Amino acid sequence: MAKYTESKCRLCRREGQKLFLKGERCFKATCAFEKRPVAPGQHGADRKKISEYGLQLREKQKVKRIYGVLEGQFRKYYEQADRQKGITGDNMLSLLERRLDNVIYRMGIGSSRSQARQLVTHGHFTVNGKKVNIASYIVKAGDVIAVKESKQDNKYFTEIKQMKVGAMPKWLEFNPETLSGKIICLPERADVDAQIKENLIVELYSK
Ligand code: SF4
Repeated sequence: MAKYTESKCRLCRREGQKLFLKGERCFKATCAFEKRPVAPGQHGADRKKISEYGLQLREKQKVKRIYGVLEGQFRKYYEQADRQKGITGDNMLSLLERRLDNVIYRMGIGSSRSQARQLVTHGHFTVNGKKVNIASYIVKAGDVIAVKESKQDNKYFTEIKQMKVGAMPKWLEFNPETLSGKIICLPERADVDAQIKENLIVELYSK
């Protein structure tokens, strides 16, 4: 799978906000954005007036980076969202939240979405009892996600078993003792905590 090769912290600085791409480091004083919250490059600190198109483009790039999705796939989420009933922007964010790598991240099993993606592609999880190693797999309400039985004694997962469950989105539940969780309902717009102006992306794609 293609991936970004640029430094993740540069992406936060480019987008002008913390995108939480590096797990625990994002919450420490060593966070590059905390230390230097300006765009990378020689003229990064210069303020430039951005056109409306530029704003739309930046918003799209930002959301792609948050979820670690490349252009072609991101466009497909938009098109799928546009075909669904309801508000296209809300639908698009709901689809992104329902990606299996995001679900694993939300459950607290991965410290970042990229780590969660790696765990998924290495075949550590089942959905409704069947192995799924596709990070972009879209979960449905009622799906049960679990660490494969054969992987449960793996050191990484035994540590997760001791984990205290933090605040969990209301559409999701996770039990560290059994290393399994459930999709209670589909995520809604209010469940997305990142600062996103999805209307800008919809405007960009609907031109
Ligand atoms: Fe972004 Fe800071 Fe995390 Fe780096 S450490 S990815 S700058 S939030």
